[in-house]
Amino acid sequence: MQETENETFHVVCRDCPFESLRPDPTAARRLADEHETTTDHTTQYARIE
Ligand SMILES: [Zn+2]
Repeated sequence: MQETENETFHVVCRDCPFESLRPDPTAARRLADEHETTTDHTTQYARIE
C-alpha cells in the first residue's frame, strides 16, 4: 500500500476575489494560466499542507 500525501494547492488572483483549491500543482497551474488568459489578471498559487 502506498501512502498518499494530502497536498492542496491554493490558487489566488491578485486582481479580483478569484480563488480556488486544487489537489495537484499541474491542475493549479492550469487553472491559474486559464484565469490569466481569460481575464489578463495576475494569479499565483501556493502549496498548503
Ligand atoms: Zn482575477
